[in-house]
Amino acid sequence: MSYVEPAPIKDHENPFESMMSRFHIASQALGLNDEVYNVLKNPVKQVIVSLPVTMDDGSIRVFEGYRVIHSNILGPSKGGIRYDMGVNIDEVKALAAWMTWKCAVVDIPYGGAKGGIRCNPRQMSSGEIERLTRSYTQEMFSIFGPDRDIPAPDMGTGPREMAWIMDEYSRANGMTINAVVTGKPIVLGGSTGRTEATGRGVMVSAFAAMEKLKINPYHSTVAVQGFGNVGSHAALLMEERGSKVVAISDISGAYYNPDGINIQQAVEFRAANNGTLAGFTGGEVIEGDELLTLEVDILIPAAMEDVITVKNAEQVSARMIVEGANGPTSARADDIINSKGTLVVPDILANAGGVTVSYFEWVQNRLGYKWTRDRVNRRSDRIMRESFERVYQTAVKYGVSMRIAAYIVAIDKVANTYKFRGGF
Ligand code: NAD
Repeated sequence: MSYVEPAPIKDHENPFESMMSRFHIASQALGLNDEVYNVLKNPVKQVIVSLPVTMDDGSIRVFEGYRVIHSNILGPSKGGIRYDMGVNIDEVKALAAWMTWKCAVVDIPYGGAKGGIRCNPRQMSSGEIERLTRSYTQEMFSIFGPDRDIPAPDMGTGPREMAWIMDEYSRANGMTINAVVTGKPIVLGGSTGRTEATGRGVMVSAFAAMEKLKINPYHSTVAVQGFGNVGSHAALLMEERGSKVVAISDISGAYYNPDGINIQQAVEFRAANNGTLAGFTGGEVIEGDELLTLEVDILIPAAMEDVITVKNAEQVSARMIVEGANGPTSARADDIINSKGTLVVPDILANAGGVTVSYFEWVQNRLGYKWTRDRVNRRSDRIMRESFERVYQTAVKYGVSMRIAAYIVAIDKVANTYKFRGGF
């Protein structure tokens, strides 16, 4: 008999399949009929473009850009644009569907989309990134639009890129159209509170969950993976409200201090250190993976997808996981995490604060009026708290995890809208 090489254990899941498996479970719990299931499982549009860009040394490089619109049944589609070497069509498809469910969970009138360009922005000059962003926008003229599809920042992009998109789109239309993107600089019509909105929503979710688990916030401990936009604001706001953040990490490594890390200091260190925590001395250096298994009350994965997998799920000791990142827990790790009784506030709920304030930005642009920071925060906190409660009650009603409950809430809303609109 010939020797058969054992198959490797797959620990990195296809993000689209990961999302689909939750969608499938929730659809069954909801008793969704096959027709609607098939409509919802396929994105309505997928666009792939090649983007030739003149680099600073005079050479021309061609980048691949993507935009996927998963659904526009509830309104214009909404979703971030990611600049990263790992971007691929499967990932963009998964993230686009996530956006549909996320907008539906927090009950805002948007469909879901996502975009990205496979590039390494850290190795590109500002001029190269600008030319790439403008070229991408030109290719997307017929896709983007304040009533069609509204991009926003995601990993590797921020207000600077959104300003270029708005400018390029406005030039082509011969007038300023600031509602075409959100996450813009304030001076161009960005909303106060947008920068910290996702981290703030994570904090509100964590506090709502602590109330359910009867954890005293003043005695709570927190570990945060990822110290970018989402992670650093979540850490800062948790600390401000009395939680002790004992571990933080970024691409440079993880830092642990059982007495609590001074987050404001970490933010200042990062700002003065080229955007990374490399060399941070406010905590002992530990392995990045170790952060995920620390004995804390709250684990906030806020870096990237697929970090809690079958390989380490058993070792995760936190009482709750509040998912700042999109898809940090693989579908196959769900069962292990659930069997341990860990409360998971899923990504499509926990990180929806960003899209909620993006929606407020779009509303303000269309009104031609600016809200105060206080109004933005009050309204987004209320939406996050109400959405948390809706998902929690659905979990209790169906006897499912909060993740599946969030999908049930979202799918039910989208499916009902299809029923009324019809057309297929
Ligand atoms: P960002 O680029 O600002 O920050 C990412 C952080 O993760 C950086 O600190 C980076 O160093 C760190 N990181 C990368 N790889 C890591 C690793 N292996 N271990 C530890 N840290 C690592 O990105 P962001 O905007 O904060 O987004 C983070 C996640 O949140 C993504 O999954 C994104 O899709 C999701 N998200 C972001 C928003 C938003 O408003 N920015 C909204 C919803 C969801």
